[in-house]
Amino acid sequence: MSKLYDVIVIGGGPAGLSASLYAGRSRLSVLMLERAKDGGQIAMTSEVENYPGCLEGESGPTLIDRMSKQAEHFGTEKVYDEIVEAKLEGAEKVLVGKKGEYRAKSVIIATGASARPIGCKNEKDFVGKGISFCATCDASFFEDFEVYVVGGGDTAVEEAMYLTKFARKVTVIHRRDELRAAKSIQEKAFKNEKLNFMWDSVVEEVSGDGILDTMIVKNKKTGELTTIKADDEDGTFGLFGFIGYLPKTDIFVDKIELQNGYIVTDENMKTNVPGVFAAGDVRVKSLRQVVTAAADGAIAATQAEKYIENM
Ligand SMILES: Cc1cc2nc3c(=O)[nH]c(=O)nc-3n(C[C@H](O)[C@H](O)[C@H](O)COP(=O)(O)OP(=O)(O)OC[C@H]3O[C@@H](n4cnc5c(N)ncnc54)[C@H](O)[C@@H]3O)c2cc1C
Repeated sequence: MSKLYDVIVIGGGPAGLSASLYAGRSRLSVLMLERAKDGGQIAMTSEVENYPGCLEGESGPTLIDRMSKQAEHFGTEKVYDEIVEAKLEGAEKVLVGKKGEYRAKSVIIATGASARPIGCKNEKDFVGKGISFCATCDASFFEDFEVYVVGGGDTAVEEAMYLTKFARKVTVIHRRDELRAAKSIQEKAFKNEKLNFMWDSVVEEVSGDGILDTMIVKNKKTGELTTIKADDEDGTFGLFGFIGYLPKTDIFVDKIELQNGYIVTDENMKTNVPGVFAAGDVRVKSLRQVVTAAADGAIAATQAEKYIENM
């Protein structure tokens, strides 16, 4: 039978790494389960300007590298496996992964969220063939090409500005007639000469012969349809979606209280199931950032410690 850990943390993003560090430092036995690689969403970004202590030039991967080493330093064991089933009732929690089964007295869910699809016809056929959700990962593929960004919030505008470093022209397609991004971000964006805006617009359909080369954009106010085609010389263009996220909670449906798919917790990160805590973007909260994910992880781990003491 597999080892019974004090705490299992599901997810190796900022929330999971912070929870692992705090639990390990409290001398609890900790296993962190991550299905891909450490870092979660922030590992995809080129610049982190707003996490305290991050100075100019800090990237998601460099920040995560330090967080990851710190969690290991305090004794966190790591297994790279995707959890597909969670048996959370009772004193002994069992997590079933694609590679094995894991047991713990308490569980911290830090499974985060993933990018929301653009929602246009044929989208799935062109993901990785012109459509992307990660500027840091894919910007360099569009060096000197035209690029379109869907969205109008902080992330969309910041990533659009980042893309101007690579693309010859970047156009933000936004469903409203003004941006939702913070004023300071908007000011920078409007000064950027490579950045253009298509207001009141949504992408209806994408197409191409194996690679994205055409899209139809609809003006929501007038109903007018505009067909955008790649330049003959380019043969393609980039389409990046930054319109929010979907929580990774499929395996917890009917097991834990959810609200719009996000896990409901109290301020101590407790879910409605004893011994099960949630931290980071996966839970109902008002600000989804690295700093709040890390804070949630710390609270969840200290509460898990109290729960185990009182078992
Ligand atoms: C492009 C981009 C730029 C951003 N820029 C900033 C910024 O500058 N500053 C800032 O503060 N925030 C930024 N954010 C937001 C920030 O990245 C998130 O708030 C933060 O990563 C949330 O951390 P998390 O640990 O809760 O979740 P995530 O980062 O989503 O990590 C969750 C982890 O859980 C793993 N996982 C999920 N399901 C399973 C499973 N079933 N089994 C095993 N593992 C699983 C995932 O693989 C992932 O690694 C940005 C986000 C994006 C996408």
